[in-house]
Parts: sequence; C-alpha cells; structure tokens
Amino acid sequence: MLSCIEQSVRSIAYGLAFGLCIAPSFAQNTSTAVAPVIDVHVHAMDESFPGGPMCPNEARFLASDPATKEATNGWNQEECTPKLSPAAKGEYLKSMAAEMERLNVTAVVFGDEKSVQKWKDAMPGRVIPGTSFTSGGMGGNGRVPLDELRDDFTKKGFKVMGEIGLQYEGLSPSDMSVDQYFALAEQLDVPVAIHMGTGGSGRANIAMPKFRGSAGNPLLLEELLARHPKLRVQVMHAGYPMIDNMLTLLQASSHVYVDVAGLIWSYPIKEVNHYIQRLVEAGFEDRVMFGTDQLQWPKLMSYSISIIQNAEYLTPEQKRDILYNNAARFLRLDAPKAR
Ligand SMILES: [Zn+2]
Repeated sequence: MLSCIEQSVRSIAYGLAFGLCIAPSFAQNTSTAVAPVIDVHVHAMDESFPGGPMCPNEARFLASDPATKEATNGWNQEECTPKLSPAAKGEYLKSMAAEMERLNVTAVVFGDEKSVQKWKDAMPGRVIPGTSFTSGGMGGNGRVPLDELRDDFTKKGFKVMGEIGLQYEGLSPSDMSVDQYFALAEQLDVPVAIHMGTGGSGRANIAMPKFRGSAGNPLLLEELLARHPKLRVQVMHAGYPMIDNMLTLLQASSHVYVDVAGLIWSYPIKEVNHYIQRLVEAGFEDRVMFGTDQLQWPKLMSYSISIIQNAEYLTPEQKRDILYNNAARFLRLDAPKAR
C-alpha cells in the first residue's frame, strides 16, 4: 500500500495528475509544473563565507612543493565555462530563495540554530533543518553537550544529524568517543549524515593536518552500524573515491543511503558520471540521493541538477528517484512536515 506522498511522488515522477490524493508535505509546494527536487546536503552559510568564483568539474589535483606550500583545489581558475560566482554582498539568501523556488527544491540545511533559522525565514517551507554535535566548524573537535543536542531534535525541530565531519579530525565514525551521539540518533529515529571520502587537493598536508583520507573509508561505518542496527545513515559524498568499499557497505547494510553532494561538481565530469553510474548499475538506484554541498554559489544548484538530468546512463525514473523519491523515502517525508 502506497502512502499518499508516495502516490504523489510517483505521479510527479511519471507526469501523471495528482488525482484525489492530497499530498501532506512538500509536494504542496509544487505550484508550478517543475517536478520537485530534494537537495539533502546544503550548508546554512551566508555571504560571510570566504571564497570567490568557482569552476565546477575542473579539478586538477596538481603537485605542490613543500617549499612554497601552494596547492590548487580547482575552484578558482581564471577561465572556464560555466564559471559560478558568489552572490553580490548581502544577496546570497535572497538569491538562494529565488533559485529554490524556481527549481522547486526542498533542502536539508545544516548549521547551528541561528544560521538555519535565517534560511527558514528566507524560504519558508523549503528547509528541513539539520545540525550536528561538532562545534568549531569542520575539523573543530569541540562537542555539543548531549542534552543540548537532544533538545535540538525533540524541542527545536531539527530533523537530521549532520554534517558529521569526523574525517576532518582523523576520526573513524565508529570511534567510541562519539558513540553516545549516534545512540541518541538511533533512539530518536533521527537520520545521521556523515562526511565520508572527499577532501580536495592537499587537504591533509596543507589545509587541515588532522584530516585523513583513510578516515573516509565507508567500511569504517560497519562497527557503528553493528552497534546501532536501526541507525539510518546518509554517507555524504558517497565515500568518493572508494567505490568498491562503498558498494560493499551498501550491500551489507541496507539502511545506508549515499548522497552525491560535493563530488558532483568538484571532480572531473567524466569521473563523476562514472562513479554515479557504478552505484546505480551495481543495483543501488534506490539509495542514491541528490545533494549539492551548497556553500556560496547560487547557480550551483541548477548546475548540479542538470548533471543528473543530462546523465544518459540514467532512465527518467532513475533520475526522479535520485532527484526526489529516494530522499523522500529516507527522510520519511510522509511523516508530519518539518518546519
Ligand atoms: Zn562534507
């Protein structure tokens, strides 16, 4: 028996009418003909995030010299098409609200209470709030007190625990020092979103000395999952580039989903398509979720959606599954609506 939202999702996916089923949740936002999209990986940044224009899918992980410590992550090359620019000062949230309306996107937005509230105010009804137990930003090893985090999920309306960036600390997600947080997520039936894999050029030797590529190995999740068999896990960045280990984990643990955020625009396009294709062709088409890792470029969302829409190796149904249906199932959007 399909729930109402599943019927609506399928109706949208196959271009059918809604019929008598009134979708209780985000599908109500569908005031236009644009099929809905869920972006499961957005950061509640504002225009204060440092950076500049970015060339998507242009990464080249060039050698650097310890004498100069120079490195490139491929984001700020001089010429490329398209080149994605940050919004004008003070315009970022307004631009994102307009883009999400135009593209009919609902997003899981990660951040602290204040930052996420700004996004909720800017785009009411389109934000599913997420927050995590690390403080001090990515690589910071401060911890939010357990009771405070419990309140975030039981009283303050947060729905997803993430982004959990233990890899930036060189820690395995199965490390016992953070087990109490995962136990809480399992107890409250809150999905967890864990950074696994991607890092960017020179992340460990130049940018963040505690980062370890090996701490992004998807199989490091196995002990955690054994301790918490009901935990719902979103492996952020799909464990890129460790595809064999990712597939091994997906097969062994059917509660595990992946998102393609970050990797979808920050590695060479052929490589990105190859990776997503492997996940789908290995049989995991119902566990791949769309995400951007949106940081500061308003046009990144439409750019990233177009990569899925233009993927010739995906059927129309698989594209809708990745862009919406899989996340709707993972996030249980037929439950009372997130605010
Ligand atoms: Zn991440």
